Amino acid sequence: MDFNLSKEQSLIQQMAREFAEKSIAPVAKQIDEESKIPEEVLAGMAELDLFGIPFPEEYGGADGGYDGYVLAMEQIAKVSGGIAMTMAAHTLGLGAISAFGTEEQKKKYMIPGCKAKHIVSFAFTEPGTGSDPKQITTTAVKQGDFYILNGTKRFISNANYPGAMVVFAREMESGEVTAFILDKWAEGYSISEPWEKIGMHGGQLLDVYMKDVKVPADNLLGKIGQGFPILLLGIALGKIGTSTAALGGTLAALEEASKYAREKTHRGQPIAKFQAIQLKIADLAIKYETARWLCYRLGCLANDIKDPGKFAAEAALVKAYCGDNVVDAARIAVDVHGSYGLMRDYTIERVYRDAIIGPEIEGVADMQKLIVASSILRSKG
Ligand SMILES: Cc1cc2nc3c(=O)[nH]c(=O)nc-3n(C[C@H](O)[C@H](O)[C@H](O)COP(=O)(O)OP(=O)(O)OC[C@H]3O[C@@H](n4cnc5c(N)ncnc54)[C@H](O)[C@@H]3O)c2cc1C
Repeated sequence: MDFNLSKEQSLIQQMAREFAEKSIAPVAKQIDEESKIPEEVLAGMAELDLFGIPFPEEYGGADGGYDGYVLAMEQIAKVSGGIAMTMAAHTLGLGAISAFGTEEQKKKYMIPGCKAKHIVSFAFTEPGTGSDPKQITTTAVKQGDFYILNGTKRFISNANYPGAMVVFAREMESGEVTAFILDKWAEGYSISEPWEKIGMHGGQLLDVYMKDVKVPADNLLGKIGQGFPILLLGIALGKIGTSTAALGGTLAALEEASKYAREKTHRGQPIAKFQAIQLKIADLAIKYETARWLCYRLGCLANDIKDPGKFAAEAALVKAYCGDNVVDAARIAVDVHGSYGLMRDYTIERVYRDAIIGPEIEGVADMQKLIVASSILRSKG
């Protein structure tokens, strides 16, 4: 057991921290207000390989492992929940292609993805289901060398960007849920206006309409009927991103509250002198440290998954904890600010709005707890 960062891990963390502070923090408020990530920020992230950290160099990645991804994501998420959301959904899509794709699929879709020429999506949710894959209604019908996809996907991150989308549909000959790689903007692909969500602005969320979209049969991801295992592992890997986005928010809450406690004065002295404030700062530190080690450990576990079901339960536990934890942390940090914490002029107001998203995505918090409980109750030990 070694809790020290390696030289490579420290470098990734430092690189992401410097980029976040110099290039994202100054425009974080603008991203929130305009709900758009500036091109130069995306270009800067691409240059630093921030869109391909966990993946092998031969597929365009930085070979930094999921442990490196967690360290970088924490720093990015600390300053912008919207960019963290974009990065997390992209890495989720790439993670599924990396785990289940053929050599040709990896070369074709991962290289432009890791180099951020493309921003990748992962489309599971539909208007009728967000937590229950059995209710998927999107269809895939084989026609010669193609599958014809029809259906609507709801709340799909990054659906507006060009690139690959891992999409789940019911293959009609077998009746089984199956995964495909679709080129966004293929004929018959269209999107809604972006959803106006409470936080994580800049992270784009759209509905996707597929009307007779032709997907080459070569773009089947895995095998026919392998949709559930791909979804299970893909989403488990995706929870590394959402959990660490929450970790970054927790760090932001700790830092903003500490800064405010030192700066705000009452009767000529900083409010940090009040024990009630000190207790809140300690609670925030505890929340940050617990989430931090859970996320770092999950990143390390993801580098060498032996049992996908066990990893999915680990990821569910971390996601359940970090999702609720960041909401509590942001709430405490708002308290430290008093009424000022509710004002747009203060960063904590944005951190709070971003935080509230965490428990509701990639499987709501209650569903995560059910996965954890079922894994414990099934095991004999
Ligand atoms: C910012 C953001 C980004 C997103 N990005 C993506 C994306 O890129 N791709 C994608 O596919 N989706 C995405 N989503 C969708 C999101 O993952 C789903 O909406 C989420 O999983 C919850 O599904 P739902 O809203 O349909 O909730 P539901 O499944 O309808 O659940 C509603 C409530 O019912 C409870 N519930 C449901 N079923 C059960 C059960 N069996 N037992 C007990 N309780 C149950 C839940 O706990 C919850 O409290 C995104 C959403 C957001 C907000």
